Amino acid sequence: MKNNSVLIIGAGVGGLSVGIRLAAEGFRVRIIEKNSLPGGWLKPTKVGDVTFPNAGCIVTMPHQIDALFESVGRSVSDYLTLEEVSPIIRFIFPEENDYTLHREAADTLMKNSLFGLQDQQGYTAYGKRSDRILDEFLPKFFEKPYKRSRNPFAPEFGFRSYRPQRSGQSVSERLFTSEELRSIHAFWPMFCGGNPAVSSHFYRMIPAAMQRWGVYYPKGGPEAFINALVKLFEECGGEIQYNSEAEAIQVYNGAVTGVRLTDNSIRMADYVISDADTAYTCRSLIDSDRFRYSTVEAARMRKPGISLFIYHMTLRNTPTEKRPLLGFNVILPTDMQQWERELFGEKQLPDHLMFYLNCPAKIDPAYVPEEKGALSVICPVPNLDSEVNWPRESYRFREHILDTLQDLFENDLRSDLIGEQYITPVTLRDSFNSYQGAAWGFDPNQERTEIRCLPNRCEDIVNLYLVGSGAHPGPFLPGVLQGAEIAYKQIIAGRKDL
Ligand SMILES: Cc1cc2nc3c(=O)[nH]c(=O)nc-3n(C[C@H](O)[C@H](O)[C@H](O)COP(=O)(O)OP(=O)(O)OC[C@H]3O[C@@H](n4cnc5c(N)ncnc54)[C@H](O)[C@@H]3O)c2cc1C
Repeated sequence: MKNNSVLIIGAGVGGLSVGIRLAAEGFRVRIIEKNSLPGGWLKPTKVGDVTFPNAGCIVTMPHQIDALFESVGRSVSDYLTLEEVSPIIRFIFPEENDYTLHREAADTLMKNSLFGLQDQQGYTAYGKRSDRILDEFLPKFFEKPYKRSRNPFAPEFGFRSYRPQRSGQSVSERLFTSEELRSIHAFWPMFCGGNPAVSSHFYRMIPAAMQRWGVYYPKGGPEAFINALVKLFEECGGEIQYNSEAEAIQVYNGAVTGVRLTDNSIRMADYVISDADTAYTCRSLIDSDRFRYSTVEAARMRKPGISLFIYHMTLRNTPTEKRPLLGFNVILPTDMQQWERELFGEKQLPDHLMFYLNCPAKIDPAYVPEEKGALSVICPVPNLDSEVNWPRESYRFREHILDTLQDLFENDLRSDLIGEQYITPVTLRDSFNSYQGAAWGFDPNQERTEIRCLPNRCEDIVNLYLVGSGAHPGPFLPGVLQGAEIAYKQIIAGRKDL
């Protein structure tokens, strides 16, 4: 078979899933991965005898995973068990209130005390509209290749009915009277690093998707999901070369010819697919001296999104909660507007913290030895464009997190602490090659006027493809799996034209 060698940069979910489909089709597929283990974001962190997942605990749209395994004649149940998470997530307000998202809208309404009569009607209207947006979004944007020259949110594509330029905040202010319900229903863009005050309201399809298909946790953690993908990839004939870092994607006469690695070796290939951070791929891996590629320019025009400070801690005992927590929680700040101003406007470390709090023992008890406790804090912070000096600030910021966290527990967390590790934006830049340490690729706050991601098929470098969070249709496992499928289909369709 001609034109059959594929080189993939990065063994994250995007790289592995496109690799599985191509290897099963008879392509010679090799993944080069800079780290010694696969998984990218889904690689866990070990603190003593506790394994902490960093990302990928929440799996929604599980039919995409079924479809990937079925596409190569396998059944996912032979490789992986997904367990439904119920209830899904709890939002904790600084005072007394909290809000729990259940799979069933009726449970969400009945089991949350925040809903007065008017807000119940608002919630029903919000849910119906969110479902319609999801129904439109999937076939018109999510599942379809997109070209940068055509803005898919332009009126001719039919999205005008839900006016994507409206912010989540303005929609929730119209539908809800309770301040708490307004904050929650504007909050969803934060799942992709978007500012709740300004990002488009179309992120409301995140809870709509969670409620339609449910939320699942891979038994054994996100690591088990990655191991299943690696197993399948290798069974299909693919190879992974670890501890190998791409330094440049080689381009000759406007088409890729292969990749040069940091050890100066060259891997020739007919197709190159990058699962590495899209901004980094375009800014650092593509040789743009000889040509001025519009793809490189497009990546330069987009700002990187916010970053994260991740703090894993193991405790002597299971901590006693003052307020009941679930496996997945969102801890909201005392002053939401000030938090938004500090994080997104002034690009400072916020005084009033908002963070995701995962309690690993409640998600999968096998993770944490019985007598011990474990907590993971995932806290949005500015990316490395800001002036935060992380080597100096990390410890102070860790103290700030501990102070805020302490309000949720009876025990003295500091004296119970037996192990800890934190990951800063600098780690994200250095170990994942994430441009400016951005956690979710490009800044979604520009999205009301422009699409943040780049097309999967590079428009002006022949046989270069992009998958992963910064590529179409965007971050989160469903977006990354879908982008990989689109890239695969484009490669197959392109070969037929040869
Ligand atoms: C904190 C956090 C929590 C999240 N939780 C969830 C969740 O619960 N559910 C969900 O659906 N989504 C979640 N997401 C999003 C999801 O995890 C990501 O969108 C997804 O994992 C991205 O996968 P990827 O394949 O694009 O990239 P990555 O995971 O970033 O993988 C890229 C790989 O490329 C490698 N690489 C980079 N540069 C080079 C180079 N030059 N040479 C060789 N290799 C290179 C890296 O080492 C890495 O292994 C979360 C994201 C974050 C940040």
